[in-house]
Amino acid sequence: MSPPSFDVIVLGGGSGGLAAAFRAASHGAKVAMLEPALLGGTCVNVGCVPKKAMWLAADLAERITLAAGLGFEVPAAPRLSWPRLLQRRQRYIDGIHASYRQRLQDSGVAHIAQRGRLLDARTVECGDGTLLHARHIVIATGSHALKPQLPGAALGGTSDDFFALQAPPARVAIVGGGYIAVELAGVMQALGSDVTLLVRGQRLLTGFDAGMTEQLARNLAAQGVAVRFGCQVQALQRRGDGIQPHLQGGPADAVFDTVLFATGRAPSTHGLGLEAAGVALDDKGAIVVDAFQDTSVQGISAVGDVTAQAMLTPVAIAAARRLMDRLYGGQPEARLDYDNIPSVVFSHPPLGSVGLSEEQARERFDSVSTYHSRFRPMLQALGDGEMRSLFKMVCAGADEKVVGIHLLGEGADEILQGFAVALKAGVTRRQMEDTVAIHPTSAEEVVLMR
Ligand code: FAD
Ligand code: NDP
Repeated sequence: MSPPSFDVIVLGGGSGGLAAAFRAASHGAKVAMLEPALLGGTCVNVGCVPKKAMWLAADLAERITLAAGLGFEVPAAPRLSWPRLLQRRQRYIDGIHASYRQRLQDSGVAHIAQRGRLLDARTVECGDGTLLHARHIVIATGSHALKPQLPGAALGGTSDDFFALQAPPARVAIVGGGYIAVELAGVMQALGSDVTLLVRGQRLLTGFDAGMTEQLARNLAAQGVAVRFGCQVQALQRRGDGIQPHLQGGPADAVFDTVLFATGRAPSTHGLGLEAAGVALDDKGAIVVDAFQDTSVQGISAVGDVTAQAMLTPVAIAAARRLMDRLYGGQPEARLDYDNIPSVVFSHPPLGSVGLSEEQARERFDSVSTYHSRFRPMLQALGDGEMRSLFKMVCAGADEKVVGIHLLGEGADEILQGFAVALKAGVTRRQMEDTVAIHPTSAEEVVLMR
């Protein structure tokens, strides 16, 4: 008997894989999707969703303090039931799983709960040895956390271990200065841990606007996080009940209950049979794709973190949808434009960014102008809070086209989306200035920057 045949097989049921499967099915394609683990992948299970749940709890903790400043009677040390928070978080995630299961059923996608491996450009072998054929294969197997190779690294965890914590550890060291390190540091500090951030360089969030990340570091410090720049972890070792990092450029005797590495993620390409199929990888192990998400092998495409292009959920989803619109939706030119992708670092308060940093703009354009607003949001002022907001706009050329918007402050996560539309549509400084403000808000500062 010949193997079951599909129009398209999708490897991975995370953000990109699910979006690919649903969109292909909506165009009438016969689709199989392989996912050996939980539906929703990193984002739903150990990424955006549980992270945002913890961030929201942390945000509430800060607001409870502000509420006391405004005159509410609040216990001196409001207590959080961590098990209850985890239960609520899980309930929310279970709801997403159920909704995906229903949608897979309704859309006719064959969901196969197994790993897949390519035998050639048209054949996938499932974990149990079953063979499947397809005219097209989409690889959406995501990425995994990396730990530095150093003695004792096994004593440290990653963001996956953070989500498995059943109680907040008292003393935490987080290694790294990127998205995950900054987010976990803020969340854990707000939820009761004593956090030290060990950053090997001299700044947070390489690639972001430097002025913004300086204010972010000040905010973290104001929140109580000990931020140590120029601090390289050389080894971890057990010390009593705790873990002691050997630090170059940091305190010699610090001991922590938990050490978490947030030192980047690598594309998950191992064991996929890519060599057998002839799919090219770059020097970091990411699948090389062209502007249409096609790999070096005809009939095999890849989307999401496995391609290491802007590792963000909406990017994986958008790339997958456009790919399927092109293959099955009669839109031969459909592809994702990777320019001006907005993103938010969920710090306290958050940092949202779209377009170029001032440094990047100065490299690219002769004429660059910048506008700023530094302010204390009203709630912080009323409640005697410490957090300051910093908004920055980067413009280029004689017509002052807006090429970068960077918002650090309360509500930045919600404010940025609309301004990202404006930036992508080519808004100029003059048009921003011509827009009447909405008062009193933080958002109005975006059109009032000087
Ligand atoms: P994934 O979602 O990782 O899905 C890949 C799937 O492939 C997995 O389910 C895996 O089990 C499956 N798989 C692996 N191998 C095989 C195989 N051989 N066969 C079949 N299936 C296989 N992004 C944001 O936009 N906003 C955020 O706030 C945000 N927060 C994050 C917080 C953390 C802590 C982390 C780690 C990431 C965060 N991200 C965030 C990034 C986001 O989660 C990823 O960019 C996104 O999940 C990538 O989607 P994907 O489909 O490429 O991969
Ligand atoms: P990042 O690439 O953002 O940051 C990695 C950090 O680790 C950098 O500060 C880097 O330093 C540091 N680092 C790397 N190697 C070492 C080492 N050996 N020792 C010490 N420090 C080291 O990766 P993350 O893991 O934080 O996140 C992965 C990706 O997931 C992000 O890039 C983002 O795309 C996505 N994500 C998105 C989120 C969101 O949208 N809110 C939230 C979380 C993740 P240096 O800068 O010096 O290289």
